Amino acid sequence: MCDLYEDKQIGDISYHCFTKLGKSGKPKPKSEYTVLATIVCNVKNHTNDSIDTKVVALTTGTKCFASNESSSDDLIVDNHAESLLKRAFKRYLICRLQSGHNLDDIQTITLFVSQLPCGSLQRWKGDPDLEANSSKSNRHLSDVCRKPGRGVTCYRATCLKKIAKWIRLGLQGKALIALTGRPFYINNIVIGNCGQSGEYDQQMLTNMLSMTDICTVYNGFQMNYLPKIKFCHDFRYECFIKSDAKYATSTSLVMWLTGDGHKVTEVLTEGHKLGVIVKNRSRNKPLICDSCIHRDIGLLSCELNDKLTEEYNNQWIELKKCKLFGDWPSVQSLNTSSSNDIHVIYT
Ligand SMILES: [Zn+2]
Repeated sequence: MCDLYEDKQIGDISYHCFTKLGKSGKPKPKSEYTVLATIVCNVKNHTNDSIDTKVVALTTGTKCFASNESSSDDLIVDNHAESLLKRAFKRYLICRLQSGHNLDDIQTITLFVSQLPCGSLQRWKGDPDLEANSSKSNRHLSDVCRKPGRGVTCYRATCLKKIAKWIRLGLQGKALIALTGRPFYINNIVIGNCGQSGEYDQQMLTNMLSMTDICTVYNGFQMNYLPKIKFCHDFRYECFIKSDAKYATSTSLVMWLTGDGHKVTEVLTEGHKLGVIVKNRSRNKPLICDSCIHRDIGLLSCELNDKLTEEYNNQWIELKKCKLFGDWPSVQSLNTSSSNDIHVIYT
């Protein structure tokens, strides 16, 4: 069996899985690029008493679509690959619960991203994008995040901060934890070599994901734990590398595995399901949107551990008192878009 910490193997099986999916939603060769993110798991296979290493969720995406946020509940605002990936992983867990598979068969979880997540690059003070933005909006440089290219302001946490949250509270999120019975922690993080700068500093990333504050630890959550962080230097594929001649694609590809191992894919365009006309959007929402996920969680007949949901809430309240999560966008600031509140810019 392969060692899951092998960064090259994680990059290889992630790319292989991407190439096997259909063309729809993928960047156009030569004119577009995107970011790839996957969850690779070691899963117990009871049929032949072995362990399978496989991609259970895969996403692509680089943009936020916040402009019509207030008028549409079928819109997925944050289409960065990492953010979509958590939604796809929830779908994977729901599928396993629906088909009666034991969630304890999922043994090791590796998060792969084809480049450094947004929010990682703040230390490059000389980045012209950062400086232009900072002076224009009078924002704190350390709080400004900008992926390559230019786009609308989006009041969402950076992918790095989202990952930091998942490290502490699990990838299953709040809505599922009463059913999963435990948090699903990330054991390893592997970063590919498709970013612009090409500089990879393990200590920098470790420092950024770490918490210096002493947080109250509630039962069941590992606050001081950090995954192993690795860089996959060989992972450098044309469709994930930005260049002056290429645009960030507006489409996203989302895939998750069902309980019996089939791949389900969903293609989004500008935050909506591809191919659905405007008047049908409220009836034909993406399966990874919150309302579909909540609907399907409600249909599951599993034993509920409501105490865990309460612990999750309490732990998140505590985490937000820590510096790392102190500027997390509140629901109110998402609605008012106050320029003094949140300092996250996506493209
Ligand atoms: Zn991002």
